[in-house]
Amino acid sequence: MARCSEWGARRPSSPPKIWDRRPIRILVHHTAGANTPDFSVPAAHRMARGIQAFHMDRNGWLDSGQHFTISRGGHVLEGRLYSLGELNGGRRVVEGAHSPGQNIIAIGIENEGTYIGVDPPAPLWNSLRATCAYICSRYGIAPSELYGHRDYRNTICPGDRLYGMLPRLRNEVAGLLGRRLSRTEATKATWPLLREGDSGPLVEAAQLLLRDAGTLRGDPDGRYDDRTLGAVTEFQVLHRAEDANGLLGGESWPELARTVRAGSEGDAARAVELLARHRKVESVPDVVDHPVWQKLLGTGGAPVPVAQDPSGVADR
Ligand SMILES: [Zn+2]
Repeated sequence: MARCSEWGARRPSSPPKIWDRRPIRILVHHTAGANTPDFSVPAAHRMARGIQAFHMDRNGWLDSGQHFTISRGGHVLEGRLYSLGELNGGRRVVEGAHSPGQNIIAIGIENEGTYIGVDPPAPLWNSLRATCAYICSRYGIAPSELYGHRDYRNTICPGDRLYGMLPRLRNEVAGLLGRRLSRTEATKATWPLLREGDSGPLVEAAQLLLRDAGTLRGDPDGRYDDRTLGAVTEFQVLHRAEDANGLLGGESWPELARTVRAGSEGDAARAVELLARHRKVESVPDVVDHPVWQKLLGTGGAPVPVAQDPSGVADR
């Protein structure tokens, strides 16, 4: 891995903060830049310098936001200064600036390119896998704890294709560490990313929650169109979201999916009913909190008991 001094990094404008604790997860990003065919070392170094300049000069950050950067050619570079030394030490973490709320507890890896419609090239993938395995081993992070940026923010990042490869990444990282993951551990996410053009029961449940929150007018129809986009954006503005962009992702779901108790009525309870029916869940817990919502949305946690007979859905 190339240290900051090797790829020509500038000195940070002030010393990066170092926390006396281990990070608990890894967040995978894409840079949303060009998918360059230049896989050379000089190209990797140029890319890292470009990101650092953007983060320091445009965003006003003290240094690169991410802890590590991987080029399309598979060259791995230190991002924020001291990240590599602290990783090797395995006890402390450099505070990053890659995802608000996650910058101390999660290591951020920027992968060069845009992976909305294409897969990352093999050299990048192999280096990402090896880098994640090394980070997991140094910090004692479970290979199931690899997530995409969208799991915590309202963002497309790291692109549908790379995001869709995270279960494979978890499995392959586990393999490198001599471990095996259950299907649930490998496939979990925090929240689904919903966006314009989506349709179905998850959208309808989101619409019920938006109406419950007072930002959707009219009846839910399971279609994420202009009306729903507007309702999501309004909800995000009301909740002072960092990303008020109409994408319903990991930043806004925790606020939208409010706690529902057994016997309660209204749109939030209707959303629970709808999802329970959709998932053929036998009995919904009395308190529907975030982990239960995530199970109902099909993204995480242990599998919910599935009814033998769909008519056995709890009446609530
Ligand atoms: Zn990102």
